Parts: sequence; C-alpha cells; structure tokens
Amino acid sequence: MPKTVVPVLLLFAPLLSSFSQSTAERRFATLVSVDTLRRHVQTLSAMGNRWGGTPSGDQSARWVAAVMKRYGLEVEVRSDPEKLVSAHQRWTLRVVNPPRLRHLIRNDWLAGFSASLARTTAILADGDREEGEVEGKVLLTDRMVSEDLYKEFVRRGAIAILSYAPGDSTMYPNWAMITPLPASNQNEIPLYNVSFRTGSTLRKEMARGTEIRLLLSASIRTTLGSPKTVIGRLRGSGEGRYIVCAHGDSDSGGPGADDNASGVAGVLEVARGLSRLIRTGVVPRPTKTIEFVIWGSEYSSAEHFVKTESDRLASIKGVLNYDQIGTGETRNCLYFESNDIPHNEPMLAVLNRVGEDYAGKQGFWHEATTNPSQGGTDSYVFLPDYLARLDVPEVLIPSVTIYTAAWNRLRRIPQTEGWNSKAWKGPRDTILIDYSRFYHSSLDIPSVTTEREPFNMVWATKAVGIALLRMAWK
Ligand SMILES: [Zn+2]
Repeated sequence: MPKTVVPVLLLFAPLLSSFSQSTAERRFATLVSVDTLRRHVQTLSAMGNRWGGTPSGDQSARWVAAVMKRYGLEVEVRSDPEKLVSAHQRWTLRVVNPPRLRHLIRNDWLAGFSASLARTTAILADGDREEGEVEGKVLLTDRMVSEDLYKEFVRRGAIAILSYAPGDSTMYPNWAMITPLPASNQNEIPLYNVSFRTGSTLRKEMARGTEIRLLLSASIRTTLGSPKTVIGRLRGSGEGRYIVCAHGDSDSGGPGADDNASGVAGVLEVARGLSRLIRTGVVPRPTKTIEFVIWGSEYSSAEHFVKTESDRLASIKGVLNYDQIGTGETRNCLYFESNDIPHNEPMLAVLNRVGEDYAGKQGFWHEATTNPSQGGTDSYVFLPDYLARLDVPEVLIPSVTIYTAAWNRLRRIPQTEGWNSKAWKGPRDTILIDYSRFYHSSLDIPSVTTEREPFNMVWATKAVGIALLRMAWK
C-alpha cells in the first residue's frame, strides 16, 4: 500500500458509519417477527373498516399510538380537517322466497354512504333489463353504480340496489367488489355489493320467471368526522427526516386486511426493529429523524400534512409508503414505485440494490423490482404534480411506494429505461404487476390474504428497514 493513502484513510475514518452495516442489516432482519405482523393485521381488521373520522378509525388510531409509545417513539396524534364520513353498524340481506335460495347470498357488503333502511321485505327486479317504475322494489344490476345510475334507480322508486359489478365471472366469483357511493348525506337508499355468483344466479332465476323476495335492512351513520393521523418519531442526531407511512383506513370501506392493515403492520414493524437496534446498541441514534406515520384517511390526511408542513417540506429526504404488502397472486415479488420520477433515482437505487443484495436468500424475497408510476396511493401526494395542486412550495421530495400486489388483475407495463433489476425474473422491458383477487372486496380478510402469505409483510419490512439503515444513518 503506498504511504500517501494512509492519511487519506484516517481523514475519512470518522465519516464512516460507526457500526457494521452488514451486522446491523442482519440483526434487523432477524428481529422482524411474522407473528407480530400477523397479529397486528388481525387486531386492526377486527376493529372494522377504520375509516378516518368514524369510531373504528378513532379506535385504530388510539391503538397505533399506544403501540408506537410502547416502541419508545415520540407520538403525536393529529386531527385532520372534518369531512363527511360514514360508519357501518350492521345490515341484513337474504332471500326469503323461494326458500331454496335462502343461502345464496354470501360475502355481500353494504356500500359506504348508503342510506339506512328499516328491516323490510321486497321483491327483486332486474335493473338492467326492466324499464319504468319499480315502486318499492329492489333493483339488481351488474353495472358500477355511478351517481347517474344511482339517481335513476332512486327516481324509478327502488328501495335498494344490489350490484354485482364488474359482472365478470373470473373476478370476484364468490365475494363482492366494494364500490362506495359518492360521499353525501343525501343518499336515499342503500347499495349492497354482491358476488358474481349471487348476482348472476338471481338474474337467471328472474329470467325464468321466479319471483324473488328479499329480507333487507341497513344501519349506517353518515356524519362529519375528523380522521386521526398518528405520527411516531425516532429522533435523529442531525437535520433532515425520512417518512415511513401507510394509510390506516380501508379505502374501499371493506375489511381491508391487505389494503391496508398490512401496510400499517409493516410501518409498526420497521419502527419496532429499528428502535430495538438502537436500544441494544447495535446502531447509534440515526442521523436523520424517522417519522412513522399512519394516515387517518388515504390522500386527504397526507394532503393536510403537506399543507400543514409547507414551510418545512425541504427537510423530508424521502417518503417510503406501504400499500398492500400482504398478498400477491402470481409472483413472490417486492415492487418499488415510481422509477419514472427523476428525483426518485437515489432512493430507488438504494431500494433496488437492497432488492438485489438479498433476493433469493433464506427469509427474503424471491424477486424485486422498481416500476413506473401507476398512481393511486399516498406517495403521490409528495410528488411534484400533486404538490403543485396543493399550492405549496416546489420541493423535490423522493417518494416511493413499496407493495406486493396492486389492483384486481395482472397488469403488464413497460419498464422505465435504465431500471432493470437483477432481482427481477420476469420478461425484460416489461413489468408484470402482481395483484390481489380480494382487492377492495368483502373478503379482503386475514385468512385469505395476510394469513395465507404472511411472508410478504416480512419481506417488505426487511427491505425498508435495511434501506433506512443505509440512508438515515448517513
Ligand atoms: Zn390502499
């Protein structure tokens, strides 16, 4: 070794991290507990749909705050601006006549912002084939209930609607896709989402001339409510902060185990693992503060956060958002979005590298890749287009979403040039986005999502924890 190198090394020594990177990463990975992740999803799912501003939303925020405190974080609960919210209480929907169809309706769901309905019986009519007045009847449709269709059915005298949209035998065969009504306290009748099997069987029976009588009721409260956003801080020794977040509500209004109790469990598990590494002296306090945030209501809470903090957005070094990390039908892959945003490059490069470093190792993902923007989750609120709409200072905040499934069917999208991951085993230049069969449905419950494939949450937790060990201690 030439002598001149020695002083250079000495000069840089204090700048090198004061812990062994590989030991810290390995220790973090061993701390991630599949049982804790599973238990947290079960606890959250049992509370209801956790819509921000409803009793189940408040309950979930209180619970998240208590867990964060237990992990040693500095906790703050923020009340977001009031908005119209609807809280399910209970509902009944079944066939009373003919008796042979009594058990036909299963896995149905009362759509959010439905109107309440006192227990009654009514005749079913085909809303897509019959015309004219249907006073006192229930209408069946396989269409999505748009505002216009809803108004038309109300005008024709229907007392309730049954929808089995998307009316496709390959999707939601035995469970219901959930489609909330527009947020309003003027809605006059309830909408029940039913499965393809339920809807198509009812339609066939009616076409054959069977008279179908339903028993139905709906109890729902639409009020103004304030979603609660929970922030848990792990203080850093220097300037700057990272945000690790997930929406705490089930956006469809269904049980929301994968979307997004899994994401909440992931945020909590990253917090637990990193706090533990610090407490046990494996790593010092991070240089950057890490804020673990559970949004009370998807988009609107993140928007409020951005507006509230408009004068200190520049301190955000990166946003890592979890949305749907609990399942995946066809691949065992971790996805990191959005690689088409140029200023996401440094942070996505770290995630991509973590993806490659651990892919295929015992206890880690089989595949990992970055992918371009698809839209539709909280990380977008921190990106330029959205910030411009919110009229806050223009700041370039790297903001990504980590997930294992998106939407309700497999999507193929072109890969962004220059972003091929060695951990991706699919076709070159095309990314196959894995999906959930239970996306926004009445069966987005633990037993068929997070309990069936709990390893997804483990992988997503490990990837983000390890990436933070590479970024927030710099
Ligand atoms: Zn979501």
